[in-house]
Amino acid sequence: MRTLALVETGHVEIIDAPIPSPKPNEVLLRITGVGVCGSDLSVFFGHREVPSYPWVMGHEAVGVIVEVGSDVTNKQIGSRVVVEPNYCCMQCAPCLSGQTSGCENRIIIGMTTPGLLADYVCVPSEFAWVAPTELPTRELICLEPYTVGAAAFRRSKAKSGQNALVVGAGSTGLMLITLLVEQGLNVYFMEPHVARSELAKDLGATAHDSSNLVDYHQCFETSGTSVGMETALELVHPGGVVTLLGLSTDPAKITPASVVRNRLTIRGSMIYDHPIDFASVMAKPPRSLSKIIRGEFRLEEAQKAFEAARSVPGKSWINFEEEQES
Ligand SMILES: [Zn+2]
Ligand SMILES: [Zn+2]
Repeated sequence: MRTLALVETGHVEIIDAPIPSPKPNEVLLRITGVGVCGSDLSVFFGHREVPSYPWVMGHEAVGVIVEVGSDVTNKQIGSRVVVEPNYCCMQCAPCLSGQTSGCENRIIIGMTTPGLLADYVCVPSEFAWVAPTELPTRELICLEPYTVGAAAFRRSKAKSGQNALVVGAGSTGLMLITLLVEQGLNVYFMEPHVARSELAKDLGATAHDSSNLVDYHQCFETSGTSVGMETALELVHPGGVVTLLGLSTDPAKITPASVVRNRLTIRGSMIYDHPIDFASVMAKPPRSLSKIIRGEFRLEEAQKAFEAARSVPGKSWINFEEEQES
């Protein structure tokens, strides 16, 4: 089978590998599509270390079950599934408290264990979610990053009718904008990249205008910059909530007195918790993801897909099927 391997920083090649066999608790998937994520790009460009080379990236995957392990009773061959690519142990203290995003033994697919950019992969059955039948593969590959937004929304306790500011309209920001619009919030955004701004507007959000102040009850920082956090803290309405999704490692300036006087809540939102967040997204999938998908590539074009993904607004993905989706 074909496997896409990162042979060195900035260079991927298709290599041949044997088809894996599922362990008793696993299902074997024939992969149909994999999204290209910012975290894959950090690996591709050498900003994030991986255990060894050649390395297999990819975690936003959709596939069809072609074999089930001997202990798997609740999955059928032929079902289309979306992979939840963070395997938590369900035994450590954070897992037992329901916060599996803090799992002490978390296995991160494509980062700490080989990824899903291959014709066939094995996945633990409980992390293979049967996909909503109405969505095409190109939209299903968005459900994992969308679930990151859904978890942030759940944790923020944001409500319909509130004003929300999304800082950054990269793919996480765009997923969140889609979700907040669908949830009935008035959504505003800040994004310097022109094409991404256009896409955010197309999804129903309004560009933040410093000359026309809005009371932001909720701010979501997705740009991954310390300035993004500072901006969110500056603009959030008294009593409001700032939810951080971006992973900036630069220190940000915070004025404690203004956090106290304005009674702000600052919350870090790390991925999602198993199984609740995937379960709720699968039960009520988003209706308007199609606009976010912009770049479609074949596996043979993966090098180009990774090189282009930083500048393409919206989501890029790799289609493993013969037919181009339209
Ligand atoms: Zn991702
Ligand atoms: Zn755990």
